[in-house]
Amino acid sequence: MKHEVFWQNPGYEPRPKLVNDIECDYLIVGGGVAGVSTAYFLAKLGAKNIVLIEKGQIASGATGKAAGSLVVRGESDLVDHINIHGRETAERYWNRIQETLKEMFATIKDEEIDCDAEPQDTLYCGFEHKSDIDLTREYEEEKKIDSRAKFLEREELKKELNTDLYTHGILSVGHGLSVNPLKFTQNLSRALDKYGVTIYEDTSYLGSEGNVAKTPSGNIKYKKLVLAIDADHPALEVTTVNSTIVITRPLTEDELTKTGLIVKKIVWDSQKDYHYFKLTKDNRLLFGFGGMFVDKNHRDTIPHLPHLEEIKDFSKKLFPYLDNLDPEYAWAGNFGMTNDYEPHFKFDGDTIEMAGAGTQVVCFMAAEHIAHILLNKSSPMDGYFPSK
Ligand SMILES: Cc1cc2nc3c(=O)[nH]c(=O)nc-3n(C[C@H](O)[C@H](O)[C@H](O)COP(=O)(O)OP(=O)(O)OC[C@H]3O[C@@H](n4cnc5c(N)ncnc54)[C@H](O)[C@@H]3O)c2cc1C
Repeated sequence: MKHEVFWQNPGYEPRPKLVNDIECDYLIVGGGVAGVSTAYFLAKLGAKNIVLIEKGQIASGATGKAAGSLVVRGESDLVDHINIHGRETAERYWNRIQETLKEMFATIKDEEIDCDAEPQDTLYCGFEHKSDIDLTREYEEEKKIDSRAKFLEREELKKELNTDLYTHGILSVGHGLSVNPLKFTQNLSRALDKYGVTIYEDTSYLGSEGNVAKTPSGNIKYKKLVLAIDADHPALEVTTVNSTIVITRPLTEDELTKTGLIVKKIVWDSQKDYHYFKLTKDNRLLFGFGGMFVDKNHRDTIPHLPHLEEIKDFSKKLFPYLDNLDPEYAWAGNFGMTNDYEPHFKFDGDTIEMAGAGTQVVCFMAAEHIAHILLNKSSPMDGYFPSK
């Protein structure tokens, strides 16, 4: 087993680091999906003179270590949103996140982003006895908004996913997009070249004095600053969560048919600390587990051993009839999360900070919101995300 991230992007050439003083209108710090898509939305909305700096490589943070399951129902359920915001706002949010997923797919097509994108349905599965989350209530709420949602009992569920581990599940049609997340964000950053966005990698933001950002080998004078550094954000509201992923050998055609995954789908379950899995483009099983809170300085990509063992055990219980699901790759990554699963925004003069979005779809949605605010335009997320 290799203790390394499976995702590769062979054609990608990193940009040079900043070595002189420069000026720009919009400076974005952080080259994850949040920062890169903020630059993208700004450029698409007509902003000029945009610079992005990244301390490592583009997508070297959470973004390039993720599972690449872009889904409507992310870290929080529809019922959670209804409980916190009331039905009307929750429905608006739900519809908006569906729109965002479509926008991500449209962006992939429009910008010809090579990222192994595959639109898929999602399957949210429950256990007979030990479910932490009530899927019946979740389904009832979803059905009111989306008539395509299906509640599957044991035998129907087995047609979609041939396992005895789960007893029921919600099949949400068109709620998922599977990507290679490293390729998605690195190649989106490549698309920024044609919009005139300048990117510096290997360039750390050390802080600002007035409207001048300091980096180790050059200062950047800016009009507006966006900090999109997720788990590195110092705010106490943004906790750092560690999750482990493993990748198996590719499944054969027979195995795909037997498991029900011949029709690919993105799956996770209803435990608070949940298992998630999908197939990669080359039909390997990707399993993920673990929402372990870690210190902000935790940088290890070596998988957490108890989580690794948990995943191996889980894969055997899920598909006991498949031989050799031993991991070929295993790694761990950190991402930022907040208590209420909503991104943390801070507006301070010419600076906007965003962290803890929890999923890449919410990052994309937050990026679109930030770009609209910076350009004094009304945002599709006004009234849901804060604007000042
Ligand atoms: C193992 C794992 C699995 C996941 N699976 C999924 C999934 O399937 N679907 C999903 O939607 N989400 C998933 N997530 C969550 C998702 O990846 C994150 O929510 C998202 O990528 C965060 O993006 P970001 O741009 O905010 O942060 P990041 O990708 O972490 O980007 C922030 C960037 O800022 C840079 N930076 C930090 N400090 C500085 C500085 N001082 N100067 C310059 N640059 C700086 C970092 O190097 C980093 O590249 C997963 C996360 C992990 C770790």
